Formats: sequence, C-alpha cells, structure tokens
Amino acid sequence: MFSPSEILEIKNLLVPENKIVIITHYNPDGDAVGSSLGLKHFLKQMGLEADVIVPNDFPKFLKWMPESKKIIIADYKRKIAGEAIYNADLIFILDFNASHRSGNLVGPWLEKAKAKKILIDHHQQPDDFDFVYSDVTVPATSQMIYHFIQALEEEEKVNVDIAQCLYTGIMTDTGGFRFRSTSATTHRIIANLIEKGADPAMITSSTWDTNTVSRLHLLALILGRIEVVKEGKVAILWLKRDELKQYGFQKGDTEGFVNYGLSIMGTQVSAFFMEDLYEDFIKISFRSKDDVDVNQFSRNHFNGGGHINAAGGKYMKNIEETIADFKEKIEAEDF
Ligand code: 5GP
Ligand code: MN
Repeated sequence: MFSPSEILEIKNLLVPENKIVIITHYNPDGDAVGSSLGLKHFLKQMGLEADVIVPNDFPKFLKWMPESKKIIIADYKRKIAGEAIYNADLIFILDFNASHRSGNLVGPWLEKAKAKKILIDHHQQPDDFDFVYSDVTVPATSQMIYHFIQALEEEEKVNVDIAQCLYTGIMTDTGGFRFRSTSATTHRIIANLIEKGADPAMITSSTWDTNTVSRLHLLALILGRIEVVKEGKVAILWLKRDELKQYGFQKGDTEGFVNYGLSIMGTQVSAFFMEDLYEDFIKISFRSKDDVDVNQFSRNHFNGGGHINAAGGKYMKNIEETIADFKEKIEAEDF
C-alpha cells in the first residue's frame, strides 16, 4: 500500500480542478475493465469525474458493466484519447506494470504525459512512477482498488456500481476464486461487495455464460488435438489464423482455453499458441501450477511476462517453429 504520506499527497490530488484519466493494459480483461470502472465509480462518489481509456477493444462479455459504454477505446477514438492523456493532471495506471504494456499507440502517449502517475498493479517488476502500489501477492488489481479505498478511509462510499465492477475483476482474475493467491482477505472483500449490492449470479452468468456455438466448436477443435509432452507435465494447444476465421472468431473467444491444459491430471504447465489475426506473430498464453514460474520462463524465452502461474508472450516465428522452440526450452526446464 502507499505510505500514509503518499495517501495524503494523493488525497490532495483528488480535487475537481484536476483532470483524471484511468488507463489499463492492451487487450483489457475482466480485472482491467473491472478495476478501471470500479475506480471511476468510486471517484464519482467523491465528486470527481474521470475518463477510462483502454488501448483497444475489449470482449463483449464485459460490456454489461455499468458505464462500460463510456469507456474510450483509443484504437477507435485516437484524437479524444490522445488529448485526454495529454491534458490529464493525474493518470491512474491499472493492472499493468510498464508503459509499453498499453500498446504502441497509448504507450508513447503515456510516457510523454506530464500528469502525476499513480500505478496500482499486481504484476512482477513494475516500472517507476510517481506513486507505486504494487503487490504480486494480491490476486486482482480490483482487490487492490478496494484496499486503496480503505486506505483513503472511504469504504462507506462503496455503492452497487463499484461493487459490481470490483467483484467482476476479482472473480475473473482468480478464475472464479480458485487460483493460488485467492485469500481469506479476498473472500472478506467479496463478502463486503455482496453486501454493497454485487450480485454473484448475475455477474457470473453475464460474464461467463456467454458462449456462442461457434466458440464451443473452436474449443472442441483445439481440445481434440491437445498434445502432452515432458512426461505428461506440459500440455500444448494451438490455433491458426484460418481456423479463427473459419469459426467467426470474436475478441475474447479464446479466453480461458489455456486452462484446459492445466486441468489434465499431472500437468504442471499449459501453453496456448495462437496466430494473430492480422499480423505475423504468435501470441502465447502460459499457465502453471505450484512453484513452476512461467513469468520468468516467458521473460527468458518468449518476450513476455506476467505472474508466476499466468503469463503471456509474443514470438515472431511461425507457429510450427514457435511450438518446436517451446518444446526444446521447456524440456530443459527443471520441474
Ligand atoms: P493472458 O495469457 O491471459 O493473456 O495473460 C496472462 C498474464 O500475463 C496477464 O497478467 C497478462 O497481463 C500477462 N501478459 C500477457 N501477455 C503478455 C506479454 O506479452 N508481456 C507481458 N509482460 N505480460 C503479458
Ligand atoms: Mn489483473
């Protein structure tokens, strides 16, 4: 958490004269959108306005969230987004650790912005900003927003909109309260959010019961050819661009696919490789169990990072070469 003196400084910055912008990472997920909108609704309760800016579009299954329609998507609204960042006095950087993670468009704007910058994030090795609240033991940035509200001594201001958004972020980033960093504190906060009006059944069905038939067919395709290597300890899944097109791929359709690899008895790592729809690179998702560190593995070999048990990366070879390189690198790992 921020120190007491930093909290005082931040309180002094939270005034109506200051233009506030909230930015999250490229390919925003449930925690990115949940923490950003949750903070926006909280600032509103404090009598402050804030713009939420995301680098690119986000999945439809997050668009039920209160005021998600007001989010500025920089890819589509370059001028508005660029000017908002340029003119901001205060920028909250949520759910990412380094400017470049907000993409090629927003990243450089963020670096040049003259605003005071406040980072709240749970990824490893954050860059330096004016104020940094980084904690890799917390399962979701949305939980950290709740802790931030507590540190400001404004918990009674949490309303139903804040509660719905933060609940969604915590639920999605913990994989439905299953991942390792899910703690008693997480559940206490969840209980508070339910008391403030978060509706678990509505949130779960709006976010997760949103399959299309084509998404299930896509899932069937990759499950049908899942490969296991390293004596059953590593699962590999992949998808090609033509297949994405054939099944009418929509943003977010492959969310969660990588987890099926880890659900196999005995696996320690799951890796999901996907050709980008437009550009010639492979997007990779890694998941792991226990102490197997895919963040470090991805940093070392696949130009990425993330968390110990959930990381991503990007590779510039074709998919066959990428998977071959992966097999070689993962065989050499000691687990
Ligand atoms: P996912 O596999 O769900 O895309 O990402 C898993 C985690 O790794 C997320 O916390 C995400 O922020 C992080 N991540 C995904 N891709 C990259 C990447 O290319 N670089 C870095 N540094 N982190 C990534
Ligand atoms: Mn997160």
